[in-house]
Amino acid sequence: MGKVGTEAEGVVREEWVEIELPSKIISAKWLKNTTEISTSKLNDKVKIAIETRGIINGKEVVVSILDASNSEVLKRPKIEINNSEGKVEIEIEKEWVHKELKIEITKDDNEGLNLVDGYIHTKTLKIICCEHAIEKGARGDLIREINIRLAGFGEGGCPLPHDTFDDRTESAVKQFQKDYMELDEVTGIICRDTLEALDQFKIDYNIPFNRCRCRCTTKGQTVTNAVDNSSETNNCQGFGDGSNRGRYLRRFTRVRKDEDGNTIYEADGKTPATERVVEYTTRNLGEPFYAYEYPGMHRSLMWGFRALCFYVEKNTTAFTFRDISSGYRCRNHDLFRSSKTTNHMGKALDIQFSHDGTPVTGQTRNRVRLMTELRDAIHKKLGIEPKSGWAPPANRLAFEPVGTDRGQTHSWLHLDVRTFSRANPSYLADEFFANTLDLVNGENLITLLNTVDGGDRKEINSCEMRFEKKKKNE
Ligand SMILES: [Zn+2]
Ligand SMILES: [Zn+2]
Repeated sequence: MGKVGTEAEGVVREEWVEIELPSKIISAKWLKNTTEISTSKLNDKVKIAIETRGIINGKEVVVSILDASNSEVLKRPKIEINNSEGKVEIEIEKEWVHKELKIEITKDDNEGLNLVDGYIHTKTLKIICCEHAIEKGARGDLIREINIRLAGFGEGGCPLPHDTFDDRTESAVKQFQKDYMELDEVTGIICRDTLEALDQFKIDYNIPFNRCRCRCTTKGQTVTNAVDNSSETNNCQGFGDGSNRGRYLRRFTRVRKDEDGNTIYEADGKTPATERVVEYTTRNLGEPFYAYEYPGMHRSLMWGFRALCFYVEKNTTAFTFRDISSGYRCRNHDLFRSSKTTNHMGKALDIQFSHDGTPVTGQTRNRVRLMTELRDAIHKKLGIEPKSGWAPPANRLAFEPVGTDRGQTHSWLHLDVRTFSRANPSYLADEFFANTLDLVNGENLITLLNTVDGGDRKEINSCEMRFEKKKKNE
């Protein structure tokens, strides 16, 4: 431009500081306003152009590139101003990736170039590793899949099955990068390396899915429906049949007979299981009483199981996963018929372990001590609060309490998604339940990139994190 203004002195006007866009794009943001800009990939150049007016040729302006978090100067090139403008190309260096960079424009001396009102011109931008990198705030079907697959990570609570990359997702990504990928510097941002690592995680921690099948013993037989007392054939295929949607169990205690010989019942939630009689109501009594046979195992639960196995291996020396002793329990399962708890209708797993090679079984003090020790070694990583008993925080993975009382687990860990919301939003919608291992697992994320969200992110790059975790099965 080189307009000679009315001002006697030269100025650098903030709006004339601009970042030009090289051809290869990665995303970056001005943090002081929301204008999306893009900067180059590694080894490309960011151009800064400064125009001035009324300036004498040959003056220098200093452009400082600082690490915004600690003000360390990363680079400080000078721009010579000629004909009222100067330009500098700054190469994006590898060490800058994932940093927030602050660009400050200052003058080199006290003469000839005055900044507008003495204001130091700064812009902050964040260099992200690669094109299409996924960070907090992103949305879409791919994010939902990632949230499901990171279900067992995140100390403040596991990611929930929805389409938004939120705080929980970010915290889980960081934990996964640190603990599973074993990166020195975690980012909380997802690029190709992290997606590949999640695909590898699936291979490393297989799920014995057949062990999740309902083990009711009356398959094919005529039985009494334990919810509505009708007569039916038990057609259980292993993962529920969708029965009893909208039906809630009401528990009664048999108290006395009236003068006609009819048994009188009284509602009582604390009645021992053997004394319970159940009727159903369509009044919403809440998830603990919901008799609906969900159509499979909840995928977040099953991916949470993978994370549990990972942390048992990582955080303990003596314990190893042994078996899933109970997964799905339909209305004809003996334990449902006797306890009338609905938790295992797709929302819970009972998991057994060995200790120093010996199976942990039986109800003894020693077993309780071992299971407490195991729980305490892993619960925090899974985002589970162990002492919360029957009222854990909403929307978390949960354990049942360990102990020898009723409703406690003495030689296994019971992992569940019973506190996930069923409404607004629903984290217990049918779509999250799967009745085959393939459906639990889903396609490899790297493959999904081509189809999900219209293939928007299929060009996602590696950010050179160098994920080199030794693959378990090699
Ligand atoms: Zn069954
Ligand atoms: Zn259980």
